[in-house]
Amino acid sequence: MAEQKTHFDIIVIGSGPAGFTAAIYGARGGASTALFGGAAPGGQLLLTMEIENFPGFEEPVIGADLMQKMLKQASRLGTAVFQEEIRSVDLSDRPFRLTSGSGKVYTAGSVIIATGAQARWLGLPSEQAYVGRGVSGCATCDGFFYRGKEICVIGGGDSAAEDALFLTKFASKVYIVHRRDKLRAIFRLQEKLRANPKIEILYDHVLEEVTGGERVSGVNLRNVKTGAARRLETPGVFIAIGHIPATKIFEGKLNLDDEGYIVTNPRQGTSVFGVYAAGDVMDTRYKQAVVAAGAGCKAAMEALVYLEEIKK
Ligand code: NAP
Repeated sequence: MAEQKTHFDIIVIGSGPAGFTAAIYGARGGASTALFGGAAPGGQLLLTMEIENFPGFEEPVIGADLMQKMLKQASRLGTAVFQEEIRSVDLSDRPFRLTSGSGKVYTAGSVIIATGAQARWLGLPSEQAYVGRGVSGCATCDGFFYRGKEICVIGGGDSAAEDALFLTKFASKVYIVHRRDKLRAIFRLQEKLRANPKIEILYDHVLEEVTGGERVSGVNLRNVKTGAARRLETPGVFIAIGHIPATKIFEGKLNLDDEGYIVTNPRQGTSVFGVYAAGDVMDTRYKQAVVAAGAGCKAAMEALVYLEEIKK
């Protein structure tokens, strides 16, 4: 059997829309391209039930189906897709060195990081105990299960507002539980919240405990100003307090912002020449599949230019 290739012009880390688009453009641009996508390639869209804002699909597309299509497209164009993670990187020298989960070392002329971001949790033991049994980090994925029921959304930013609005499609009532007396969400979203009769905002409240049996039955809240306790009988609890970028392995190796997002220039370049980042791992604002795909395209086009430059 032929020895498995370990050097590639471009190695893409991550398998969401940014990663697959980068791989498609890299491979199509003539670069030998590998993508490390972890055990279940697909990224956050695997958690999404229906996507109806990704252009090209006149009917809603299931997240997992869309990612399968991207994987097949990238593979057809010549990308080597590894169902493995990259555990550590050495970006201090060229070629860049990447060590996979199995301990194997791969080298790359250019690296594109598209490792995404994950939902942030409050960290309460009772919250963690009920993840997947009433506690969710993804309204789009799980809202459907709460048809006709009362639910609560924790957070006060754009995500919480959008989640709450989306969830009114299913739920009979949506409580927004926010720790302060003002929402962080943009004005337009706040207007929509106020106009929606199904939404009630509980300011100055924090979630203290999620309770239930096999599944969530409700939440215990505390008013941070008065100290008063409040109980909501909500079988669905959506945590929407932001995201954490998957950048642990890049700490000390690339410039990261205060929240851990990779800092990029307008051409997706990072603080290391030849290393690019695309998608939610560097996007603190939009976090949309189509934006991530666009950034992946830009990153690959810049990587191709970089590879030509260093040949000279
Ligand atoms: P965010 O803007 O950071 O808001 C997080 C919210 O959760 C804040 O209201 C924060 O409270 C609250 N929070 C954080 N930690 C908490 C804790 N431990 N306990 C209780 N509450 C906590 O995050 P996001 O809403 O996910 O948005 C992230 C970025 O994506 C933003 O730039 C946003 O504009 C963007 N985004 C845009 C859209 C859109 O344009 N359609 C949609 C979604 C997200 P405080 O307010 O007290 O800090």
